[in-house]
Amino acid sequence: MRINCDKSKETVGNCCLFKAGSARILLFLLISLVQTLLAAASTDSLVHAINTRQGLPRIDARLQYAFELRRSDPETSEREAKTALKEALALKNPERQAKAFYYLGLTYHYNDRSDSAVIFLQNSKSLYREIGDSENLSKVLSILGTAYLSTTGDQKQAFAYYNEALNEARKSANHQTMAIVYSQLSNIFRMNGSYQQAIEFIYKAREHYDLIGFTEGIAWINYSIGRIYNTMSLYDEAEKLFLEGLEIYRSLPDNESSLTGRAICMDELGFAYMELGDMEKAREYNTGAANIYRTMRGGGFGISNSLKYLARIEYLEENPEEALRQLGKALRIKKRINDRLGLPGVYLLYGQILSARGEYKAAIDSLQLGLYHAQNNQQKTLEMNLNLQLAEVYNTCGQFDKAYRYQYQHSAIMDSIYESRATRGMTQLEALYKQQAQEEVIIQLEQENTIKDLKLSRERVVQQLLLIILFLVVLFALVILRLYISNRKINAALEEQQKKLQELNATKDKFFSIIAHDLKSPFNSIIGFSSLMERYAKAEDFEKMLEFSRHIKTVSTQTFKLLENLLDWARSQTGNILYKPRELDARILIQNAIELHSSCARRKDIQISTEVPPLKLLADENMLHTVLQNLLSNAIKYSPHGSKVSVEARDLGKNIMISVRDEGIGIGPEMLGHIFDIGENTSSPGTDNEQGTGLGLIICKEFIAKHGGSIRVESEYGKGSNFIIILPK
Ligand code: ADP
Repeated sequence: MRINCDKSKETVGNCCLFKAGSARILLFLLISLVQTLLAAASTDSLVHAINTRQGLPRIDARLQYAFELRRSDPETSEREAKTALKEALALKNPERQAKAFYYLGLTYHYNDRSDSAVIFLQNSKSLYREIGDSENLSKVLSILGTAYLSTTGDQKQAFAYYNEALNEARKSANHQTMAIVYSQLSNIFRMNGSYQQAIEFIYKAREHYDLIGFTEGIAWINYSIGRIYNTMSLYDEAEKLFLEGLEIYRSLPDNESSLTGRAICMDELGFAYMELGDMEKAREYNTGAANIYRTMRGGGFGISNSLKYLARIEYLEENPEEALRQLGKALRIKKRINDRLGLPGVYLLYGQILSARGEYKAAIDSLQLGLYHAQNNQQKTLEMNLNLQLAEVYNTCGQFDKAYRYQYQHSAIMDSIYESRATRGMTQLEALYKQQAQEEVIIQLEQENTIKDLKLSRERVVQQLLLIILFLVVLFALVILRLYISNRKINAALEEQQKKLQELNATKDKFFSIIAHDLKSPFNSIIGFSSLMERYAKAEDFEKMLEFSRHIKTVSTQTFKLLENLLDWARSQTGNILYKPRELDARILIQNAIELHSSCARRKDIQISTEVPPLKLLADENMLHTVLQNLLSNAIKYSPHGSKVSVEARDLGKNIMISVRDEGIGIGPEMLGHIFDIGENTSSPGTDNEQGTGLGLIICKEFIAKHGGSIRVESEYGKGSNFIIILPK
């Protein structure tokens, strides 16, 4: 569980308002305002957390617990805050140390130990400044100003703290603290007699309360303005404002904050009525205020003030006995709670009452005691009034030299008060106006910064948009590219398949055309020749019979060759020819092929020459034999009588080259490009009208491809042909 007490701290800041002068009562009011703003964690769960948690969560629980108990149980609050401080020091956590000092400061301040509170708050201030936590720093500075003022009466230093508090509160846009500080400044101006500024500043406080929509602040503002009017002796106007303030406080639910608000309004109303001469109402309101304070813990300060007001009423009503009784009670309380600032006022009233009763000795003692405290506290106005009262008493007693001395001191202080009031007012104002000017510059700079930030963020948005667009474009391009590549692959595969299909189709066509034509016609010839033979046999013309039997032999031999080629090709097409490579001697291979064609060559008087070095190659003997035989057969077929055919083999390193060159009719360019392609009718008769099948070269290409080699032709019409085979070794 994380204990969140930020909100509580914020509202605690309110208590800084009232310490100076009679501000201590007001302190309770603002402490209590806190409760309307926060939902306090239950103390039970905090105790549980302290007992079960470790490390930071435990420190946070302790701090929250200390904060909750700061007024109801200051001893426990102090103990927990100090333990939290120790633990935070051990963990080297400056943030928690600062908070522990802050809460210790609060607890001490609320319990009339402002001297020690100042030291704790100063420690907290230094730590928050180091951390750079403007929000908490502003709160600490604000309460430090108040505590410092109440213990030292040093308005100058208090002003310095308030100024800094304003600065830090502005940085963190902490309107609550700004309102508190302005309100406190207004209070100081009021005490100094600078009523116009006091009103000006209380309205500033109101602006900040309005900004955060803090309605209870309106009651507080009414009360504050009323107090200024009271000090200015504008009692009728003051009465109206206090009544309005009281009404708001009464409309709020009963809690410490609204109760304190009611009490302070009632006390001031009592004072106003007393000055207006309506003693009955005055008594009613001051008694009412005292009764409220009695119901509250830590209400001693308020009670003592109410009692003082009541004593004054009794005195003015000429009930000195009752006045002295009330005053005695007030004095006892003030001594108990160590309200040093409140003592001179009580002693002054004592002196007045005693002197009126003719108890001059006791009056002088009381007045001198009051003067001593006023001088110690630098309470100039009270010092002046005590001197005046002493002068009057001595005058009545006939001790004119002493009366003169006190009268003189009274005048001197009065002069100095007016002088210093004027100069102090001016200096303080100057400082504040400077502060305000800075404030305006800061606001302007902040606005400029905001504009800059806006521009920057807009540029950033544009940049991000551009980046997104760029990214999308790249992504789109990549997708298109991918599609294009896969399309191309598909197209290539389709083309390949189409080519294969075309080849298959052409193979089929070729097959049927051979069967239909090339195989049919020789049989026609054979049948024709056989019938003729039959006829000549009957006529016993043996000469003719011999002639036709020769024809039959030629045709059937040729047809057999065709059939052989056809079968080879068909087997290669169906994958039934097995590729069985083995090491072969190129010279023997070529020689065997030549021997097969020697009789044909002789018939055409063609000379076959070879140029074959001793060469070994890895090949399928049957396939390579078929290839060479086809190439030699073509070379002889398409060569004129008496020409030459040469067969050459060469070692190319990784490959072997075999070429069959002739000096025959050559191949024209129109045929050269596709004599290895199936489907093209490339077959043409030889020089002696030898018939072909158009299958030879196709088979050659297939078989060479099976070896991983290649076959090509170089030829020109009328200039012979050269068929070149490249085979891997
Ligand atoms: P064919 O049985 O018709 O010779 P081939 O496939 O062996 O079938 O040859 C195809 C065609 O290529 C031949 O008909 C011929 O036109 C041409 N040809 C092949 N070899 C030669 C060559 N050495 N000289 C000229 N033409 C040739």
